[in-house]
Amino acid sequence: MKTFWFIVGSQFLYGEETLRQVEENAKTIAKGLKTKYPVVYKGTVKTYDEAMRLIKSANYEEECLGVITFCHTFSPSKMWANALKALQKPWCHFHTQFYDEIPNEEIDMDYMNLHQSAHGDREHGFIGTRLQKKRKVIVGHWQDPKTSVAISNWQDVVAAVNESKSLRVIRFGDNMREVAVTEGDKLEAQTKLGWQVNTIGVGALVEEIKAVTKAELNAKLAEYKKNYVLNTDNLASIEYQAKAEIAMKKILDENNAKAFTNTFEDLYHMEQLPGLATQNLMKMGYGYGGEGDWKTAAMTRIMKAIGKVATFMEDYTYDWKQGLILGAHMLEVCPSIAAAKPKIEVHHLGIGGKDAPARLVFEGKQGNAKAISLIDLGNRFRLIALDVECVKPTKSMPNLPVARVMWKPLPDLETSAACWLIAGGAHHTTLIYDLSLEFLRDFTNLLDIEFVHIGKDADPYVLEQMMKNNDIYYRLRG
Ligand code: MN
Repeated sequence: MKTFWFIVGSQFLYGEETLRQVEENAKTIAKGLKTKYPVVYKGTVKTYDEAMRLIKSANYEEECLGVITFCHTFSPSKMWANALKALQKPWCHFHTQFYDEIPNEEIDMDYMNLHQSAHGDREHGFIGTRLQKKRKVIVGHWQDPKTSVAISNWQDVVAAVNESKSLRVIRFGDNMREVAVTEGDKLEAQTKLGWQVNTIGVGALVEEIKAVTKAELNAKLAEYKKNYVLNTDNLASIEYQAKAEIAMKKILDENNAKAFTNTFEDLYHMEQLPGLATQNLMKMGYGYGGEGDWKTAAMTRIMKAIGKVATFMEDYTYDWKQGLILGAHMLEVCPSIAAAKPKIEVHHLGIGGKDAPARLVFEGKQGNAKAISLIDLGNRFRLIALDVECVKPTKSMPNLPVARVMWKPLPDLETSAACWLIAGGAHHTTLIYDLSLEFLRDFTNLLDIEFVHIGKDADPYVLEQMMKNNDIYYRLRG
């Protein structure tokens, strides 16, 4: 089971009784937190060697996702310095205190020595800053429900980074020809973000499609019938999508891959571009990016891995009068965002020269969301996030044969689009519902990549200045 290690700071100065109380209180705090992943007390640091031993164990323990520290008493930081420098897991400095108020009669110098995180955690904060060590600082009483929520949110960030660090992406074929934004340095992505991005020839997929058995096909068709409304009599097209889905899933699972791409320009010997197949795989949690867009495929998977409702998305058409964007793709939008049961339909695809593919058609649900785009600037990755409000599509659009979502970008269409273009955001995004700004700030900070946010206060001029400053930072740091 994945856990977070709770390591507490103290020293020998106050005597055995105080240390016994520190340990007891630390265990009570760890058990009392109502967090998404368990927080487990692992020991009290009183010496250099203890700090080093605990941190080295945390580094090597697969089940330990991150380390949470708290100095119950003063805990001189020179004994922590080398251990913290060696720490390879995400670190949260949890600034709390056992009691939430100062007692009147009982307070004496023994009490002061025991309950002095106000004092000890300042020493601990200093060493983090002096070491320039990344950490999340969470402040709050451990019994306050808000504190557990804050720790759980940070745990989600750590889980997302953990997913990123082990993520494998398969490209079925190459990228769409001549497109710039779907390119990028795959080796840099691997060393920085952890992604292993590799290609499998479309020929291998074609062979796997041929090998799908009748039983596998029937089971998949039954699943489609259960989950979706059949709005076509072209069953052959649906069957081809079912086979493509089964074949892609086999290859993904054999390679332990959780995200994939393909492109309509590289479908040699395939009969259709996967539509329904890709959509159903996304619903099962796989990430996807169209036209070989492995960066969006990976980001979509990471968001799904932590339980977010997320889909591959593309900015398509504007409604200037209403200040809205219509998002869609030629086929591949995840049905997890559907407002109602999706329909399976078969329509001709204007590009690619293949047979008419079956696809899911639906309207996206309403709600607050973020559209995010990861781009490769040559000397760094930049993640751009736009706050959007998904609305019920204002028109029925009966002749549009694809899944669609309509959203109001913040602060308004003109300002947000200006900011997006200046920041270099792609036409492809991952659209994620109910994702906080704090999550993305912490996520990009942990991955050590640039973050640009466009929200209600966005201003293209301010944004441009910020990116100039960032550029100096990344160039100086190299
Ligand atoms: Mn596209």
